[in-house]
Amino acid sequence: MAYLREIITEGHPTLRKVAKRVNVGEIADPIFQQFLDDMFETMYAAPGIGLAAPQVNVSKRVFTVDLQDDEPEHGPLVLINPKFTLTEGEVEATEGCLSVPGMVGEMTRFEHVVCHALDRNGKKIELDAMGWFARCLQHEMDHLDGVLFIDKAQNLRPAATDEERAEAEAALAR
Ligand code: ZN
Repeated sequence: MAYLREIITEGHPTLRKVAKRVNVGEIADPIFQQFLDDMFETMYAAPGIGLAAPQVNVSKRVFTVDLQDDEPEHGPLVLINPKFTLTEGEVEATEGCLSVPGMVGEMTRFEHVVCHALDRNGKKIELDAMGWFARCLQHEMDHLDGVLFIDKAQNLRPAATDEERAEAEAALAR
């Protein structure tokens, strides 16, 4: 059974903390596993394609991702203590965030990243990500470092058109 957690929004101090690394011995703890289930439940209900632990007021280096597309390697994924081992290229796109409701902006991100992390079983994983998948990983990684997209985005604005509202609230909401 998974439970919805409250998503905290801009202004809450937890969103501005550098999150602590997860102790590897903690991963198998049923309380931690329950927390991961709750994160997926909360992410899907929002709805979002990514959710970082600080967004539910838990300052730990873990996030969930599920692009909910046809590519099985795009989720559902748990990334614990993630780090980028390669970043290259640049691409700009409109981005939003579940913790900054209703706002969108143009955000430049790396086009290609390679990310190392532990999965929910504590097993090492390596993800080679392009496009939206790479963008999502970078957005969630920023949350672990206390960074919000509004710190770096250009042309920050309330989602005005139906299309932008949809972007802010659904597909691009992370
Ligand atoms: Zn976000």
